Amino acid sequence: MGNVLVIGAGGVSSAAVNKMAMNADIFTSITLASRRKFKCDEIAAGVKERTGVEISTAEVEAMDTPAVVELIKSTGAELLVNLALPYQDLALMDACLEAGIHYLDTANYEPEDDAKFEYHWQWAYEEKFEEQGLTAILGSGFDPGVTSVFATWLKKHKLDTIRQIDVLDCNGGDNGMPFATNFNPEINIREVTADARHWENGDWVTTPAMTKKVTFDFPGVGEKNMYLMYHEELESLSTHFPEIERARFWMTFGDAYINHVTVLQNVGMTGIEPVMHDGKEIIPLQFLKTVLPDPGELGALTKGKTCIGDIATGEKDGETKTYYIYNICDHEECYREVGSQAVSYTTGVPAMIGAAMVLKGIWRDPGVWNMEQLDPDAFMDMLNTQGLPWEVHELSGPVEF
Ligand code: NDP
Repeated sequence: MGNVLVIGAGGVSSAAVNKMAMNADIFTSITLASRRKFKCDEIAAGVKERTGVEISTAEVEAMDTPAVVELIKSTGAELLVNLALPYQDLALMDACLEAGIHYLDTANYEPEDDAKFEYHWQWAYEEKFEEQGLTAILGSGFDPGVTSVFATWLKKHKLDTIRQIDVLDCNGGDNGMPFATNFNPEINIREVTADARHWENGDWVTTPAMTKKVTFDFPGVGEKNMYLMYHEELESLSTHFPEIERARFWMTFGDAYINHVTVLQNVGMTGIEPVMHDGKEIIPLQFLKTVLPDPGELGALTKGKTCIGDIATGEKDGETKTYYIYNICDHEECYREVGSQAVSYTTGVPAMIGAAMVLKGIWRDPGVWNMEQLDPDAFMDMLNTQGLPWEVHELSGPVEF
């Protein structure tokens, strides 16, 4: 059915490419390219062993737009799936426009020298994609991604309005390491050390990072401490659901993780400004990434479950209703299936499903789209059949935290 080019060969990419190969009726040709080809070859060898499917690999620098355009043309791809880093989003969108193909990513653009993940840079591409009749899908991971589709599904099937939404991201897994992030350490640490912001009554409310903590009993996992954080889907959800009065994002962290991040921050290791070291400029956070475990390698070590979802309150036929919609995912089961832990899996599978929506022509309207703007039903069906089944329950009332 479709020819896809995947850029980036990390943890998320590995899960996504394995799942694409397992859906060879949709993904009839797959090319995997990244700045280090041997990483692509390693993933390709695993895919071949697991599924028998051969994928092509290539070396490419994502910021080199002419090189990416040439690669797109040589593969004949009709969709580029960007599973590299948020810094490369705009360069890859430019390459798609130049080569005339569709685009999909899992994280919004962020300038390398400023930890500001905001959508306006990518939303500015709306007219260009629309004019060329091309589709760009932003944020097709779990959060953003599935949690945004969950919100749209609730609004389509259970609620007339959404007044309050809390996105709850719990990783109840343990990899046995004293300190390791479960996706790209640089991006993860930039996210958790940023001020917490949430949307309330038409404005952003800012609180210092990691200061608001709530204990929540997660289905399939149990009680965990979760912290109020800023996350990119708050910007797009509050834009696309103007009736939302409060939108918040919460993520669980263990005490050891918080202690490590606090110390690293206090000693300056999470900084993104260059410093001189031995006569050479280095960026502390990039050096830290180099010495931390590679999240893509943690699959075999990680046990336990994730539980990610939304609690939404709104009106249905004039009555106030609250729903909790979530997925529970088991780290060890993911590893058995695709050789990745659940954080890579819960991001890579929705990337594959979003790509399938484009290739099948279900999500093909020209323009730049966030996930909550698209019809949720076919995507929600594929979550159930592709390893991320979801449940929805009505709660007795709005959340009290
Ligand atoms: P990794 O760091 O494991 O993988 C990134 C890959 O991109 C690496 O293979 C890296 O190459 C490659 N890459 C980086 N820069 C370039 C470049 N300039 N040109 C070509 N290739 C490049 O990250 P993850 O797999 O953990 O995360 C991938 C993306 O998914 C990130 O954007 C992350 O923010 C996002 N994400 C989204 C989530 C969601 O739910 N929406 C959740 C988790 C992650 P090399 O191996 O040489 O470093």
